[in-house]
Amino acid sequence: MEQQIRCIGCGAIIQSEDETKPGYAPKSVLEKEEIICQRCFRLKHYNEVQDIPLTDDDFLKILHRIGQSEALVVKIVDIFDFNGSWLPGLHRFAVNNPILLVGNKVDLLPKSVKYPKLIHWMKQTANDLGLKPVDICLVSAVKGIGMAKVMEAIETYRFGKDVYVVGCTNVGKSTFINRLIEEATGKGNVITTSYFPGTTLDIIEIPFDDGATLYDTPGIINHHQMAHFVDKKDLKIITPKREIHPRVYQLNERQTLFFGGLARLDYIKGGRRSFVCYFSNELLIHRTKLEKADALYASQLGELLSPPNRHYAEQFPPLEAHTFTIKERKTDIVFSGLGWVTCNEPGAQVTAYAPKGVDILIRKSLI
Ligand code: GDP
Repeated sequence: MEQQIRCIGCGAIIQSEDETKPGYAPKSVLEKEEIICQRCFRLKHYNEVQDIPLTDDDFLKILHRIGQSEALVVKIVDIFDFNGSWLPGLHRFAVNNPILLVGNKVDLLPKSVKYPKLIHWMKQTANDLGLKPVDICLVSAVKGIGMAKVMEAIETYRFGKDVYVVGCTNVGKSTFINRLIEEATGKGNVITTSYFPGTTLDIIEIPFDDGATLYDTPGIINHHQMAHFVDKKDLKIITPKREIHPRVYQLNERQTLFFGGLARLDYIKGGRRSFVCYFSNELLIHRTKLEKADALYASQLGELLSPPNRHYAEQFPPLEAHTFTIKERKTDIVFSGLGWVTCNEPGAQVTAYAPKGVDILIRKSLI
């Protein structure tokens, strides 16, 4: 049997197949006597963290450890995919530990969005989901917006104790940690790694001046995202990079909007009204009549209705319908990880479609 080689840094089994999984090392380094995985290599030489997804089981172990410690928990969510990146149940494990909620990627929202209002929305939504954070911060880890404030909040709420940073993959946790290290120290080689007991995954430790430690935990995979249904090229199209420009559609009853070929919204009943769409600016929105929608989808998926691109269209799963009656004014219809449509007035009947496995939900409007 072939002997398994382990990374001398984190102990993960070395593999050269998948860069996104633990223990990845390029084939060129496999000849060496002592092998270190790419993640540990970057960490050691550049103080750069790379997030490696972990299984739900490993994540539970990490949550248990957090529950057994006395520490501040910093929970990062992606403000563009708030519900999808939420990490349900964290508050049950954190037990008595305070949780500081950080909304990242605030740079994507239209400039007109008022932060205090957004923070109020996050507080209400968090409460509805069972979490009472000690405070809420908005940041853009990429742009460096709000970092000084979040660092101040961490200092305020940790009371000299340790800090655990948790979040789903893709919320920008690595970018956030890297930015934190840069702003806090300005110097190299400040981080070390250690094991999470019972997992193959390492935990990154960043020391505070007073002897306490900030632990960066591995990210858990967000299963309900559109990202799992498209290839890398299409992912670039649906992931917003810049401020989102809302697109407004005045729809008559029995009109349909297609979001590329990934999702669809049928406006069934409620008189003429406007729908405000918040999606990546690069994602094409196509309007058509409801009676033509099925035929158009069948003939144009991967063409006019793209992404998914031509090569991916055939294996793209069928769309599943979710029917809603909008009861409150200012309601968002959310396509998990893809974007949302705001309906300003109550009374509309809609059917929203996404591939099976991608959540569609309605919520009080974020903007
Ligand atoms: P992780 O998986 O949580 O560690 O996430 P990464 O730090 O690797 O970031 C995931 C993606 O989100 C990358 O494409 C980042 O460039 C992007 N990202 C991270 N922070 C921000 C941010 O503040 N704004 C925007 N627009 N994108 C961000």
